[in-house]
Amino acid sequence: MPPVNVELVNTGSELMLGRVLNTHQQWLCRRLADLGHVVTRQVAIADTGSAIQQAVREALGRADLIITTGGLGPTSDDITRELIANLLGKKLVENLDVRAHIENFFSQRGRPRPAQTSVETLVPEGAEVFLNATGTAPGLAIKIGAGSWELKAGKAGLLPDTSPVSPASPQWLVMLPGPPRELRPMFDHQVVPLLQHVYAAEVFICRTLRTTGIGESRVQEFVEADLQPLVRRGLEIGYCARPGAVDVRLTASGADARQLVGEGEALVQSILGASIFGLDDDELENVVVQRLTARKQTLALAESCTGGAIAQRITDVPGASEVFLGGVVSYANSAKETLLGVNPETLRQYGAVSEAVAREMALGARKKFNSDYALAVTGIAGPGGGTPEKPVGTVFIALASSARVEVKQFLNFWDRPTFKQVTATQSLDWLRQAML
Ligand code: ATP
Repeated sequence: MPPVNVELVNTGSELMLGRVLNTHQQWLCRRLADLGHVVTRQVAIADTGSAIQQAVREALGRADLIITTGGLGPTSDDITRELIANLLGKKLVENLDVRAHIENFFSQRGRPRPAQTSVETLVPEGAEVFLNATGTAPGLAIKIGAGSWELKAGKAGLLPDTSPVSPASPQWLVMLPGPPRELRPMFDHQVVPLLQHVYAAEVFICRTLRTTGIGESRVQEFVEADLQPLVRRGLEIGYCARPGAVDVRLTASGADARQLVGEGEALVQSILGASIFGLDDDELENVVVQRLTARKQTLALAESCTGGAIAQRITDVPGASEVFLGGVVSYANSAKETLLGVNPETLRQYGAVSEAVAREMALGARKKFNSDYALAVTGIAGPGGGTPEKPVGTVFIALASSARVEVKQFLNFWDRPTFKQVTATQSLDWLRQAML
């Protein structure tokens, strides 16, 4: 089957004003790529009639599958459904399932149904309807048969159509609501089955190996040459660098896909070994919490320069309460002394950013919380505060366990938010590796 030409049209004036980050672009592209469909074009546009119609009309001239986001709600600026129905010459008809769903949505919450939600019950005739599990506005999918439709021209408020498009094969136009908590489950549970049915795609296998502790070019240098024989057989390799971590993505399609990706994965595992912290959607903090849980062990934290970033990542993981006892954000020297028992003499002699202080912070946190492990971090995030001996970016991370306390020094020369994330990643990864 030839590749499906997919285009995204993200609508919303808030996107164009920089008020909202267009996360749908990244999220949908990723989900589609995992299904084997690489998005060929994406536009973000204001939610005005002319912009939406023009973008959809242009996309219909090229794509097999067009996905729009936003503008399906009940307010006056939510006009996507109406404009697209108009563009395709389809009537809007009331859908009783949607009406029942919306009535149920409000009655479950003990609230009267706002009158303007009636507009959400109207769907273009013949459309597939995706009831919204986390909201009211349904998603919609319209099949546009080969040569079976014409663009409407010249209606008030619509762009005159000067370039009618006659699709050679059926196209699909999928419309999804704007809020991410509505769009994401709808895509995963309702759109994916439709796409799998419509585009009985050849087998597409994708495996992501998530690494940390090695830079992007080093990762590539380590694995690239050994993977070449598999690349010649059709394996594709991609790298994605993010602060403190690099993903290696192996993909293949066709009859040999599973075999090729499996061989590639085994090879990368054998080369990068313990630097791989997880697969696909695994996050480092999830892996750490899983390991601690499996070992029935506990963690405490003493954070200075990360300001709670490690605690935040750990507590993002459901079930963290089983293993995470607590943490201290000991920013000032006085907090290091009073909350963690760091010796004032150690602070005076070595300075707050030092191996000795990191060590005492970890020991203090472990004692205070009575945990199996304690991680402590102290460093200079910058941009000020550096010295020739301890330049900006200097970090000491300490890991205390029942057996020992060790300290490692890093130089993380980044902007402050990235510094915190990278330092948190190094800390969590050290703990992960200590539990291997
Ligand atoms: P609603 O019922 O909330 O009006 P809708 O389908 O009409 O839903 P929009 O009004 O376009 O959607 O967007 C609703 C909210 O969803 C936006 O205010 C924004 O917070 C979020 N949103 C919309 N588009 C995006 C996007 N591309 N990326 C991230 N968030 C988005």
